[in-house]
Amino acid sequence: MRAEARIDLDAVRHNIAAVRGRVGAAEVMAVVKADGYGHGMVECARAARSAGATWLGTALPGEALELRRHGVDGRLLTWLWVPGDPIAEAVAADIDISVSGRWALDEVTRAARAGAPARVHLKADTGLGRNGCPPQEWESLVEAALKAQADGLVQVVGLWSHFACADEPEHPSVPAQLDAFREAVASAEQKGVTPEVRHIANSAAALLLPDTHFDLVRSGLATYGLSPAPDVRGAAELGLRPAMTLAASVASVKRVAAGHGVSYGHTWHADRETTLALVPLGYADGVPRHASNAGPMWLAGARRTLVGRVAMDQCVVDLGDDTAEVGDEALLFGPGDRGEPTAEDWAQAVGTISYEIVTRIGSRVPRVYQGAR
Ligand SMILES: *Cc1c(COP(=O)(O)O)cnc(C)c1O
Repeated sequence: MRAEARIDLDAVRHNIAAVRGRVGAAEVMAVVKADGYGHGMVECARAARSAGATWLGTALPGEALELRRHGVDGRLLTWLWVPGDPIAEAVAADIDISVSGRWALDEVTRAARAGAPARVHLKADTGLGRNGCPPQEWESLVEAALKAQADGLVQVVGLWSHFACADEPEHPSVPAQLDAFREAVASAEQKGVTPEVRHIANSAAALLLPDTHFDLVRSGLATYGLSPAPDVRGAAELGLRPAMTLAASVASVKRVAAGHGVSYGHTWHADRETTLALVPLGYADGVPRHASNAGPMWLAGARRTLVGRVAMDQCVVDLGDDTAEVGDEALLFGPGDRGEPTAEDWAQAVGTISYEIVTRIGSRVPRVYQGAR
């Protein structure tokens, strides 16, 4: 193998169980958008289901439809769509649809007219400033949805929202958004909505903010064993196990003289005679180019650092006076049990979040599943 992303499905199941253990009676939605945060959507969805995630969530209707095409059944919510997306197909495939505004409600009711009533979750913008119905339009959206419900076209089964700063539990926006959410729920219920689920918590809120659980929590990053708030609590402290290990086989090992430059632009030169190992993964595979001269790696029994620029297909590691063989295994990141860096270490090395590290791993890297299916 040139390179592979090993996905530990037992870890996914363990993480869902860990989230369930923290949210009491609330149900758990495993969020599997973006190909399961790079881990493989269908396999992770099945593993999460088998561990008791009664809901699945995707951003895009196309992602939800792909789950259905693979025979994944049960409750499934999709929330980010635009006019012209396959909403009629999604309704016909028994997928719950998020509605943030009148145009969306109109599309859903049109889709429902052709078939069964659509299950909708009305989304309130409680302060995130992204998707969601703004407060001044909430009452009229609720009234329109109730009218569509009375006409037999939709069932309003969910009321929901999303946090801006749940990864900073002390942030004043957290209680402000909670208040706004409670208000939106109360006003909808007063008008006659009887939601099956009220939900606002993402991974960080599910793990750190017990007041936010309501009936359902949406577990994205935590499903894959990474901490959504590493500055507050690390993955191990949260009882999570990272599910992805990114490995590659060394493609070349060579001794070079002091002064030898490495990779495009010669941004690094050996300050002594040294041994270099070539790892056949580059930015086309999702290794950030910002990891040039910074990214960590486990190779030949120790932590190493990338030297020179990350290229499209490859990067170089300095081994000093250690040796490695062509074909030896390099670990870019994993759970950390063997001394290898974690996705969180990569995030810190390149100034991003672990979400971005794992979701960027490209389609050229095969996912290899480990643990019971
Ligand atoms: C991605 C997403 C989630 C999951 O977020 P995590 O921080 O990964 O748990 C939850 N809700 C919505 C609306 C999302 O877009």
